[in-house]
Amino acid sequence: MIGILGAMTEEVRLIGTRLDDSASSKVGGREYQIGRLGAQEVVLATSGFGKVAAASTVTTMLDRFDPAAILFTGVAGALDPGVKRGAVVVADDLIQHDFDASPIVPRFVIPSLQVDRIPTDPAWTKRLAAATASSSPGAAVHRGLVLSGDQFISSNAARSELRSLFPDALAVEMEGAAVAQVCAERKVPFAVVRVISDTADDHAGADFLDFVEHQAAPLLSGIVAEALRD
Ligand code: SAH
Repeated sequence: MIGILGAMTEEVRLIGTRLDDSASSKVGGREYQIGRLGAQEVVLATSGFGKVAAASTVTTMLDRFDPAAILFTGVAGALDPGVKRGAVVVADDLIQHDFDASPIVPRFVIPSLQVDRIPTDPAWTKRLAAATASSSPGAAVHRGLVLSGDQFISSNAARSELRSLFPDALAVEMEGAAVAQVCAERKVPFAVVRVISDTADDHAGADFLDFVEHQAAPLLSGIVAEALRD
């Protein structure tokens, strides 16, 4: 079984409609839907926004359903000027940009893992990038560093600060690096795929929900279905 997570109902709903033999159970206020996507057994859930919500949901998913790998899908704000709205970013590694336990450990380093950059599973990451190219040939695909933190980045000032701290970061979101920490601690392979919804600047709020529902969600459900086809 493979676990699939997204932060927003709009991101997850379309994948849910593709499941066969679907059944669901509720734990801690969240619904976990099991079923088959093609030949692959999956468990699907909406985490809600932010690192705590994502960590809690993925922990429950691992404990109750024991998936062999976790795929996180959703939208993100672009930080690299070469990454445009509608492009797909597949994370090679993730950093919690708002984590700071210095001077006990250097800023951004997660004590349990002793690293700041948490790498994704190379095989699943490659599979998501390849699935993007075959399911949506028109979409640009980027691979690299993704940042996560408990803020919706929507000002030029906040965006510049992140860009100066992490010059190689492609995008910023609110959940991926939390899922990364939980999966790394438990040695469960995971990967993160994001569609760029905004440029994390003063204009980031504009038609956000409409973009998520009508553009990002169809793209992401196609990518996930393709990645799980064997
Ligand atoms: N303001 C929006 C939602 C904010 S949460 C609203 O009113 O509904 C944004 C969600 O999309 C989070 O799950 C996060 O992972 C992702 N995201 C997209 N763009 C982002 C950005 N610029 N900064 C942080 N997270 C972003």
